[in-house]
Amino acid sequence: MKTIRVLFPLAVALLGACDSPNSREVHAVADLLLVNADVVTVDAALPFAEAVAIESDRILAVGTTEEISKYRGDDTELIDLHGQMVIPGFIEGHGHYTSFGGSLMILDFRNAKGFSEIVSMVVDEAANTKAGEWIIGRGWHQDKWETREDVLVEGLPVHDSLSNATPDHPVMLIHTSGHAVFVNQRAMTLVEVDGSTEPPEGGEIVRDANGRATGMMREAAQDIFRIAYSGHQGRRPAGLAESELRRMVTLAGEEALRNGLTSFQDLGTTFAEVDLLKTMADEGNLPVRLYMAFEEQAADMAGRLDEYRMVGYGDNFLTVRSIGEKVLDGALGTHGGWLLEPYSDMPRSYGLNVVPIEEIEASAKLAIEHDYQMAIQGIGDRAYRELLNIYEAAFAKHPDKTDLRWRIEHAQVIHPDDVQRTVEASVIPAVQGIFACSDGPWVEERLGQERTHERSYIFNTLAEAGLVPTNGTDPPVDEISPIGSFHCSVTRRLPDGTLFQPQEVYSRDRALYSYTMGNAIAAFEEDIKGSITPGKLADITVLSQNLLTVSDETLLDTEIVMTIVGGRIRYRDGEIVR
Ligand SMILES: [Zn+2]
Repeated sequence: MKTIRVLFPLAVALLGACDSPNSREVHAVADLLLVNADVVTVDAALPFAEAVAIESDRILAVGTTEEISKYRGDDTELIDLHGQMVIPGFIEGHGHYTSFGGSLMILDFRNAKGFSEIVSMVVDEAANTKAGEWIIGRGWHQDKWETREDVLVEGLPVHDSLSNATPDHPVMLIHTSGHAVFVNQRAMTLVEVDGSTEPPEGGEIVRDANGRATGMMREAAQDIFRIAYSGHQGRRPAGLAESELRRMVTLAGEEALRNGLTSFQDLGTTFAEVDLLKTMADEGNLPVRLYMAFEEQAADMAGRLDEYRMVGYGDNFLTVRSIGEKVLDGALGTHGGWLLEPYSDMPRSYGLNVVPIEEIEASAKLAIEHDYQMAIQGIGDRAYRELLNIYEAAFAKHPDKTDLRWRIEHAQVIHPDDVQRTVEASVIPAVQGIFACSDGPWVEERLGQERTHERSYIFNTLAEAGLVPTNGTDPPVDEISPIGSFHCSVTRRLPDGTLFQPQEVYSRDRALYSYTMGNAIAAFEEDIKGSITPGKLADITVLSQNLLTVSDETLLDTEIVMTIVGGRIRYRDGEIVR
């Protein structure tokens, strides 16, 4: 039975869907049974159920608790979920996997209540860090502090307590704005900056009454420290860089598991990174399933794409078949999104074309020739249209190639004329629900009322037109939180309680579909992921309450109870299971 199922997963999938467990598969024994649950399968053949049987890394059967209990054998683990919700594992549709992991490695001061608390966090980190290595933190803001230091210069502390506690490590603490850093004496000595140093143009070295540098470096004055840090990182032995990258992969994966994610689509990897991920897939050390898109120059990719293309490598933990996200434009918040008409609050600007059209065209040519998907950032309506033009031209040259599923990432502003074009080209606008709420407070300022209403974050309009609904949070750009993005997708409620483009909410069903089946389709993975269907991978998330029925007000209270990847429980009741 086992051999047949492995060889013909589709046939068995059909059997599982049509047969009652009483007939043909009565002898199959599950490794894991989830019973008495509120199962929402995202599979139209059987949308709701009570129980799921899992054998090895696949879903064996779905049905009532009574039906599924028949798969219980002597060694079967039985979990009674007492009505908790079971859904297909969430899939992050667009993120940056190792940078996300990296963001978890540096100290986070967003909740620090004062400078002394920050110093003690740095001291703890120094105790676990080799002498000479940099210690980096981010997210501090003096206005959030409740305690005050005795000595203040321009409202900020001086570096002495930090420097005395960390004589062996250069320390750089990045302000939440990114526009300043606070450094210790060791860092200043390293780059030969002191109170007598002439600051660079556009920078400021803050000094006390005696002319001593306080440690605060504003704007351009921080550059020398950032350069010294990245130079140091780059010069370290290869083994060290690898162990750090491994740590990023593990940290990112574990944080994904805590948030109920079983798969993660990464938009921007390198050949070197894929080499390591492949090794980790061989070792069985990838915590979640990865779908990677290259962010390399077209000239460097030519000649290497065939060698690196892999689908379902390492028991379906690693797939590389996409090129992204070279950004065609910048972000809306910083007036970088490339628009068809000027910004309402900056009439001289249409935004920015970041990567030249020719470079994207060269990548598109490579992609279509080597069976890679394109997944390029187009935030503004001009960038979106340019990408459609490039994609359509590539498709027209290769009419034999069908089912390409090329994507436009973010797709935050779309001219109405381009919606139908997208449908006809079978292009996928890969959107992130959460951005409607994080950007909502200022979008109208940038675009004006009329354009905002007509074109911005029109995610449900796209789905109604027949396009694949997708979702994600672009970690580390936004918090890695499917629940947060689900909430925004179905409410469009901003932190201040107002609604942003509320006519564009997804239904609850559609929001769930977008985070599971929709994202699976955007990665050609609908045959193995996206629904709880016999024969598919047993990637499952258990939630504390039903996302489809709880009130808008309590949606955000939903907790991740369990995350199962390939039949293995990897996160349960607040703990990573190793
Ligand atoms: Zn991104």
